[in-house]
Amino acid sequence: MQQTGRAAVMTRAKAPLEIREYPLAEVEKGWALVRITCCTICGSDLHTWLGTRPGPTPIILGHEITGKIVAMGAGLQRDSGGRPLAVGDRITWTIMDNCGKCYYCREKGLMMKCLDLKKYGHDSCAEPPHFLGGFAEYCYVMPGTCIIKIPDELSDEVAASANCALATVVAGWDSARLQPGDNVLIQGAGTLGIYAAALAKTFGCNRIIVTDVMESRLEFIRRFGATDVLNVKGVPDEELVKQIQGMTRGFGVDVAMEVAGRPEIVPVGLKCLRKGGQYIEQGNVFPGATFSYDASDIIFRWLTIKGVHNYDTKHLEWGVDFLRRNQHQFPFDEIVTHRFPLEEINEAMEMAHSGKAIRVAIKL
Ligand SMILES: [Zn+2]
Repeated sequence: MQQTGRAAVMTRAKAPLEIREYPLAEVEKGWALVRITCCTICGSDLHTWLGTRPGPTPIILGHEITGKIVAMGAGLQRDSGGRPLAVGDRITWTIMDNCGKCYYCREKGLMMKCLDLKKYGHDSCAEPPHFLGGFAEYCYVMPGTCIIKIPDELSDEVAASANCALATVVAGWDSARLQPGDNVLIQGAGTLGIYAAALAKTFGCNRIIVTDVMESRLEFIRRFGATDVLNVKGVPDEELVKQIQGMTRGFGVDVAMEVAGRPEIVPVGLKCLRKGGQYIEQGNVFPGATFSYDASDIIFRWLTIKGVHNYDTKHLEWGVDFLRRNQHQFPFDEIVTHRFPLEEINEAMEMAHSGKAIRVAIKL
């Protein structure tokens, strides 16, 4: 086996990432070593890189990863779905490694809030085993991580965003207990919005209304089940609320989901809900994302606001299977619009930041 591997390392925010080489460590009991094949750039990687969200340094960013197993530690035999694992298998895995024993893991069903949580692409790479992020040739998969074998029918590019963008919106709709016939509003036509629309379609939702300010994204999301797309650039809130009420027999939507990462659009999203409606907040994953709202409206109209950060293993399992079952119905293979080798990581980050791409992939 190779003795070292390369990684793109962020030494401080707002600075170019540097290609560094680190030694590979022995693969211990319960661990796996993976040769990364693809890692897509998530909005949260950009937040850390741009300094809008604090993170430790040096760090290997990237968590939407696929790879091939090159070594397996003792005891690792099956993935989380019970499928046998072997060297050479293509896998993806949960964004987090949790202990399974703490207050949140065991008592509260919030494994993503484990008291001993570790997240890929979120921790310092200064100490061995160094490789715990996606912008690298290798990644170690920790024992408390849930591994999922990628079905043969799915390409690495299609599977890569499953472990963050897709699994997160699966968790969002799950928390809303979406019903067939529901009318939904999705605020944001980026990658999360795209998956949210496709999922809502397969759940049998009625009106799947998507708002954004970029025409190209709105056009694209029509192909993922959106029934109505609205460009909200310069549209006053009251007008948008009226439009959405007009699409829902005057009532408003059953569920609204914010996946644009813009705190200023939360109030209009809440106003678009019917009485008893639910608001799923997923996009504003950086501190300081404040908004103001009249609390009496939440009471008088029986509104529910739910924050959903990351997801549970079942949501990733469900997400990968959803891709497999629906890849001929929706053009998931067009979500990655730009590809770069590891050496061009800075160009890739700039492209992701420009807003011109849907998802940017690092191919290895
Ligand atoms: Zn992410």
